[in-house]
Amino acid sequence: MIMTNTKNLKPLNSFSINISARHIVEVHNEAELYKVWKNAENQSTPTLMLGRGTNVLFLENYTGIVLLNRIAGIEIEEQHQAWNLHVGAGEIWDNLVRTCLSKKIPGLENLALIPGCVGAAPIHNIGAYGVEFCQFCNYVDVLHLKTGTLLRLNTNECQFGYRDSIFKHTLRDNHAIVRVGFQLLKSWNPTLTYGVLKKIHPQHATPQLIYDTICMIRRTTLPDPVLTGNAGSFFKNPIINAGKAKQLLKEYPDAPNYLQPEGKIKLAAGWLIDQCGLKGYRIGGAATYDKQALILINFNNATSKDITTLARYIRKKVEKKFAILLEPEVRFIGPLGEVDGIAEII
Ligand SMILES: Cc1cc2nc3c(=O)[nH]c(=O)nc-3n(C[C@H](O)[C@H](O)[C@H](O)COP(=O)(O)OP(=O)(O)OC[C@H]3O[C@@H](n4cnc5c(N)ncnc54)[C@H](O)[C@@H]3O)c2cc1C
Repeated sequence: MIMTNTKNLKPLNSFSINISARHIVEVHNEAELYKVWKNAENQSTPTLMLGRGTNVLFLENYTGIVLLNRIAGIEIEEQHQAWNLHVGAGEIWDNLVRTCLSKKIPGLENLALIPGCVGAAPIHNIGAYGVEFCQFCNYVDVLHLKTGTLLRLNTNECQFGYRDSIFKHTLRDNHAIVRVGFQLLKSWNPTLTYGVLKKIHPQHATPQLIYDTICMIRRTTLPDPVLTGNAGSFFKNPIINAGKAKQLLKEYPDAPNYLQPEGKIKLAAGWLIDQCGLKGYRIGGAATYDKQALILINFNNATSKDITTLARYIRKKVEKKFAILLEPEVRFIGPLGEVDGIAEII
């Protein structure tokens, strides 16, 4: 366990909001995690588990202890038809993807360069370029912090959905993800259904080519949080019913739309925001990214209030033009812990 000297959270949240915590502690195994959490609970001090802080917006200084999950380890077991991986929650996601590529284990390449830790991937069911984390998840190991017991949830029990899982609902509080199990099948089929990947001929597709192509696109279209504070897509892509979608597509035939398994239609939130003329729009130190309106950036020493004011403005404009209410994808953290993001931007 490492009690860091700093209480400054600015380098630990990708929005680079100038905010602090009462204490920041790095934990490297389950025992340390449980000990710090139990001590904090005995002193009625709130705790917040954090990976790399790339999916959070701190609204104010955090009054409790931030626990940085740094549980490491990538164990790989080869079986007849698949590789089984057992990975520490503190491993960096993209390092895992690159480790797999270097060992000729395919599957995760479409999830190239997504920032953050392995432990946060199940919570948000991270996804990109036609692929979602849940497709490779075998199990998620969770520490129940009240009792110190370890639970293993299989994929069904994780209740994965679009940017959603049980870890945002019934297992949100008092539970920490400590390790994640993957199953990566040897019978690999490339997923080339999305954007620039459509240009790759399936016969020429290799995991490395897909990885490199996606990295190139992401590096040219997304702001690098090291240089420009941001938390990726600020809003979720809205999913609407087929009737409403038909009406909207009659008026806007160019609107990107994706049929969902249950017959609903997913729209591109970035396109909706763009149609409201808000690409590059600024409020205070916050702005929408000029290459992708779905990303809110810390343009110039933004405060969290600048970001929420801009988010509220965007939400109102999109509602007025399309009668669609955007929901935040980013998690909002108040002084005592997570708060309802929608309530903050109504
Ligand atoms: C430039 C950029 C691009 C992005 N692109 C994508 C993308 O393509 N697809 C996508 O899905 N996401 C994307 N994201 C969002 C982000 O990378 C993912 O949500 C990522 O999984 C967050 O990981 P993290 O470790 O930073 O989580 P954090 O931000 O540290 O935490 C997120 C939430 O999970 C909780 N948490 C974290 N770790 C644990 C744990 N071990 N146990 C329990 N709770 C925990 C935290 O309390 C917090 O509520 C992007 C972000 C950025 C900045």
